[in-house]
Amino acid sequence: STQEQPPQICVVGSGPAGFYTAQHLLKHHPQAHVDIYEKQLVPFGLVRFGVAPDHPEVKNVINTFTQTARSARCAFRGNVVVGRDVAVPELRAAYHAVVLSYGAEDHRALEIPGEELPGVFSARAFVGWYNGLPENRELAPDLSCDTAVILGQGNVALDVARILLTPPEHLEKTDITEAALGVLRQSRVKTVWIVGRRGPLQVAFTIKVPRPRKRLTELLLRTATEKPGTEDAARQAPASRAWGLRFFRSPQQVLPSPDGRRAAGIRLAVTRLEGVGEAARAVPTGDTEDLPCGLVLSSVGYKSRPIDPSVPFDPKLGVIPNMEGRVVDVPGLYCSGWVKRGPTGVIATTMTDSFLTGQMLLQDLKAGLLPPGPRPGYAAIEALLSSRGVQPVSFSDWEKLDAEEVSRGKGAGKPREKLLDPQEMLGLLGR
Ligand code: FAD
Repeated sequence: STQEQPPQICVVGSGPAGFYTAQHLLKHHPQAHVDIYEKQLVPFGLVRFGVAPDHPEVKNVINTFTQTARSARCAFRGNVVVGRDVAVPELRAAYHAVVLSYGAEDHRALEIPGEELPGVFSARAFVGWYNGLPENRELAPDLSCDTAVILGQGNVALDVARILLTPPEHLEKTDITEAALGVLRQSRVKTVWIVGRRGPLQVAFTIKVPRPRKRLTELLLRTATEKPGTEDAARQAPASRAWGLRFFRSPQQVLPSPDGRRAAGIRLAVTRLEGVGEAARAVPTGDTEDLPCGLVLSSVGYKSRPIDPSVPFDPKLGVIPNMEGRVVDVPGLYCSGWVKRGPTGVIATTMTDSFLTGQMLLQDLKAGLLPPGPRPGYAAIEALLSSRGVQPVSFSDWEKLDAEEVSRGKGAGKPREKLLDPQEMLGLLGR
């Protein structure tokens, strides 16, 4: 039975959900072996590619993840795209259980005319660009305009506004990429509007410690309406950069420049609230407002993709249908993190929900609900990958790349200079 055989489990995705799920399984089962598959060459998901460079303390979770990855019963298998290089049914055949923790890789489209114009980016791509996500390294946003508009009022919108407005010299000692820093140094953006469909009571920002919304609202209103003290005013004057929140506005159209070549503004529909409390909906009043701007960043949410035709997916909610992490109707298949709950919540929320998934899996194992008998685990998958020309990277490979990044950052006083080019990374690993 599986009780005598060390259970072979695999996790897909090496962000917080993948690592916290693995941590729970290893801690609460003395024999379990966990392989973590990751499409990137490097681990940690949005902790590396999402969390803002000026919030280094948030990235301390990497220390815990590193401990997990170094466990003799855990292995990191990077450079493997599940759903392309290996199918989920193949993983299910090789392991006793599979946990899908692959996050939310897409962004929600605005679905308005002009969205495709140069000068319009998803906040997701912009964040990926300043954080060194390989697929976004060529983004090169043009920051020669004086006004940027961010559509959406969540934490990501705030991060993006802060990066646009922070004097670049304050970012020099962070792990922001040198290329992004170069573009930000040339930036002429002075004003950033953060636009939301609803009002101050409905905004989606979270504060570090959960406190009642009333506190948050007070804070928002104070920041938005208070006159700066003399010290603040002195600090703000030379910077002459400003941001503001615009409430009750919903994007209707990106306005093109006279030659039609790029974004020059945005038409907003004025809204009002219908209904009360959290359920209040923004409905258009019929009035519109045009805001001139050269840069539009849409920050209306991340979105998970379906990974494999064999895995149920709810396209409306953008999640894998599950009961406390058990994928419905597919025994032995689990999910955790953003692909389980939807793309909201901080790392701590993701931790709690991943531990819960781990707990359900171990309960099922104990109850004999997982396939009995031995499973080949990685040995079977390794053979498949090699027949397909896929070369996985290990955690010690990552540690080599990590050391290289740290050493490249040293000269500039940065914690690291991220490697952006997968070919170069493979080269450094002698592949
Ligand atoms: P992810 O972190 O996205 O991890 C998913 C992993 O799966 C990725 O490594 C991805 O490459 C991999 N993957 C995807 N598809 C495949 C595939 N087919 N095969 C193999 N691997 C795959 N939280 C905080 O607490 N503090 C913050 O300051 C903070 N800042 C944030 C800033 C931004 C811009 C964003 C977007 C989020 C931020 N968060 C922050 C939230 C936090 O990042 C999430 O709660 C958390 O990362 C979700 O974890 P996850 O593992 O579900 O997803």
